[in-house]
Amino acid sequence: MVASLYGIDEANQTIWVYLEHEEGRLAGVSLELLARGRQMADQAGWELAGLLPGHEVAHLSPAAFAQGADRVWLLEHPLLEHFTVEAYTQAAYQAILKGKPSILLCGATPNGRDLTGRLAVRLRSGLNADCTGLRLNQQTGVLVSEVSGFGGGILALIEAPRHRPQMATVRPGVFSAGEADPRRKGELVRLGVELDECLVHTRLIERLSGPGVDLTGTAVLVAGGRGVDGDFELLRELADLLGGEVGATRPPVDEGHVKRERQIGQTGVVCSPEIAICCGISGAFHFVVGIEKAGTVIAINSDPEAAIFDYADYCIVGDVHQIVPALVAALKQEGQAVPAL
Ligand SMILES: Cc1cc2nc3c(=O)[nH]c(=O)nc-3n(C[C@H](O)[C@H](O)[C@H](O)COP(=O)(O)OP(=O)(O)OC[C@H]3O[C@@H](n4cnc5c(N)ncnc54)[C@H](O)[C@@H]3O)c2cc1C
Repeated sequence: MVASLYGIDEANQTIWVYLEHEEGRLAGVSLELLARGRQMADQAGWELAGLLPGHEVAHLSPAAFAQGADRVWLLEHPLLEHFTVEAYTQAAYQAILKGKPSILLCGATPNGRDLTGRLAVRLRSGLNADCTGLRLNQQTGVLVSEVSGFGGGILALIEAPRHRPQMATVRPGVFSAGEADPRRKGELVRLGVELDECLVHTRLIERLSGPGVDLTGTAVLVAGGRGVDGDFELLRELADLLGGEVGATRPPVDEGHVKRERQIGQTGVVCSPEIAICCGISGAFHFVVGIEKAGTVIAINSDPEAAIFDYADYCIVGDVHQIVPALVAALKQEGQAVPAL
């Protein structure tokens, strides 16, 4: 087995969270990881720290302290103004070798995945990707990561007992950020970082962003599957009346009826709406993990044996093309478009 660059004896009893940021704000997933990291650090009597690379980003540290960080390691350099995997990997690598954390947590975002893959190879540490749960064994200091495997058929608990840092990525929405405490204070530590411009092969030329949608925060989710037969306008009307958003299973996304950003599930978004209405969805494990945290689940399916009914609080057996229009008509008729939750 290849040894990591530093071992258990050298590692400090600290959990680091990589603080991803965009347009002057910390990413929601970083706040969620700080909240979960705080719980684990408290249980073990460890320190929680944020790793904050960027250019002129010190102003982001109070949000990390408010969310539970004891300390923020700040890495500032003009080459870190925009995320490039080369520069960020170099900077994070240098910081990790200085601070020697036992654990490094990172959002399973496109940039987070890119970064942690490279770091795991350089540090010879290994990486548990897309974890659905994390806990810390207080006696051994070993991170236990829950990962679904074999197409979702099993939940595997993975440990890397001999390698440091123990690294894991977690998708947005898996943990809750909870309440921040703006009065909480922490220590901001500036770390020197040496970056060689020649090693940075990518350059930001233009930044294009669409309207986008973040389903992780919606209170009402109206999700459609193959049974909707591509008629997502129907669901949009219902979602609008309820002040919610439309989501989908993978097949309608693959078929181009819905944008990828609206896919719910293991390879999509994990949501925690107060109400999820699942229309024409069979209830495959890969989808269900995306709505497991929903408050109330209402399922509409023409097949009374559909697995989705096992997860639903209210089960409606019938044709979605009849039931959804009837719901829409009823809501309109009563003039009681429910105010957004
Ligand atoms: C590694 C991997 C990752 C995956 N990740 C995801 C993921 O992130 N998200 C995801 O959703 N899937 C994912 N999948 C696919 C997943 O396994 C299922 O195939 C998918 O969720 C099924 O989508 P569905 O329920 O829309 O379609 P189906 O399974 O085909 O179900 C359609 C349902 O609609 C019902 N129906 C048909 N007509 C009507 C009607 N008129 N009215 C009412 N009901 C009707 C049927 O009874 C049926 O239950 C993944 C698969 C793999 C292997």
